[in-house]
Amino acid sequence: MAELTFFAGTMDCGKSTLALQMDHNHRARGLAGIIFTRLDRSGEAVLSSRLGLATPAVEVTEDLDLWDVVVARMTSGGRVDYLICDEAQFYSPQQVEQLARVVDELDIEVFAFGITSDFRTQLFPGSQRLVELADRTQLLQVSALCWCGRRATHNARVVDGVMVVEGEQVVVGDTADPEHEAQVEYEVLCRRHHMRRMNSRAAQAAALSADVLPFDLDACPVPQQG
Ligand SMILES: [Zn+2]
Repeated sequence: MAELTFFAGTMDCGKSTLALQMDHNHRARGLAGIIFTRLDRSGEAVLSSRLGLATPAVEVTEDLDLWDVVVARMTSGGRVDYLICDEAQFYSPQQVEQLARVVDELDIEVFAFGITSDFRTQLFPGSQRLVELADRTQLLQVSALCWCGRRATHNARVVDGVMVVEGEQVVVGDTADPEHEAQVEYEVLCRRHHMRRMNSRAAQAAALSADVLPFDLDACPVPQQG
């Protein structure tokens, strides 16, 4: 019986590598699948990993109907045993519902991979719908570490070196933000340092200056004596 499985993690948890490996393992067993992705790091219609591996994929544009893509492939004589859906946090809730329908009505295995929450620690709509509908949600082992050495569980957006907690939900990293002409990057942090807005550059600056403690003193008022 086919299932909808959601593999959830943070930014640097190696989920695209796992997605590529899942595809390879299924093909090695003689199965045929379709790979979907959206806003992949290396551009449109490619699923790529940080290790440099890549494979062609169907780009999930805003109005793409995933159910229609699968049905069209099958009615033109193609075989579909499974779907690999990377960057699923960027899919719309409706597209996630289409995936559930593919599982239930066509008995096709669906493996979705995505980041759970955004740089404000709030769920992406696609990930929220996946958590709600998936037969299984599997948290990926976090391999990345915060600069302090703890497990990196939260994504931080860094604009010109400074961590921000406001802005558009989706801004692809390592690109110049045309509106602000600023360099946008992402960094994974532990929750403690995400809450304190302490990315690695802020920590370095604090360490270099003996006068500055690595948190905001205004947030912890000292009681007045006498
Ligand atoms: Zn930390």
